[in-house]
Amino acid sequence: MAALAVLLAGTAVVAQALTGSGDNATEQHPGAAAPTSGQTSAQATSPVGEPEDARTGVSAVSPLTDTSRTASASASPSPSVSRSRSASQARTASPLAGAVIVLDPGHNGGNSRHPEIINRQVRVVNGSKACDTTGTETDDGDPEHEFTWDLAVRLRTVLRERGATVVLTRGSNTGAGPCITERAAIGNRAGADLAISLHADGAGSSDRGFHLIAPGSVGSNSSIVTPSKHLAIAVRNAFEKGTGMPRSTYTGSGKALTVRTDLGGLNLSTVPKVFLECGNMRNATDAGLLGSPSWRDRAARAIADGMATHLAATG
Ligand SMILES: [Zn+2]
Repeated sequence: MAALAVLLAGTAVVAQALTGSGDNATEQHPGAAAPTSGQTSAQATSPVGEPEDARTGVSAVSPLTDTSRTASASASPSPSVSRSRSASQARTASPLAGAVIVLDPGHNGGNSRHPEIINRQVRVVNGSKACDTTGTETDDGDPEHEFTWDLAVRLRTVLRERGATVVLTRGSNTGAGPCITERAAIGNRAGADLAISLHADGAGSSDRGFHLIAPGSVGSNSSIVTPSKHLAIAVRNAFEKGTGMPRSTYTGSGKALTVRTDLGGLNLSTVPKVFLECGNMRNATDAGLLGSPSWRDRAARAIADGMATHLAATG
């Protein structure tokens, strides 16, 4: 814990200085097209729970004895979570083994057709925001929601292979929503060890790079501010190392890290959570990387590596 405190103390000044830096990365992207129709047939998608990992036979004992995770789980009792962790601790030493991880692929494929769902105002502790947004797209018309869905599926595969239990906040890329309030609630109800919202940004055409967004305190989420910042730094370092995507040139002051209090998904979370803006879809070079299946696989592995580093350090 002492090492963690020192690490975080070193980043807190930078992060605080960046609060409210006015970057483009939000749950609503500046390049997003406005919904245009009024159809009412869609249902907000339900979260997809992952069954326990059924693998057996590995005898190594996990060193994880994380009191913070125990506290998190007990705040939202979940028998399946408890079973998963104790079973995994008996079979592998991976920091991800038995961890409950919530992946939140930003936006949804049906959002643009259902403004009546996604434009509804929802409370986000310190204000109101739209239920969800359409997201951005590349200049070639490749939408953000498709990217975030595909990356989440790839990441789910990697995390499962490493023994984690994974919950997605939406079960396909064809529905509308769920609202940002529900996306946060899914992580809270799961008693997740960590949650991550996956996005790609829609900034200026000459802007490049990725960045992490960690929560600032809005009161109710104060307990997650420190561990979320630690998670953000771990994922940032792994993502930078593993993907070749540069740190953002347009936000985060070269640190690829901002702290914000205007994102409902972070304000409403009671489990450690960050947003990852994987790159700028409006920059041709970034878009080339974001659209590459092999790059997406590298990104998935890098994100998992960052999560493992975080869990090992905080466990
Ligand atoms: Zn987005």
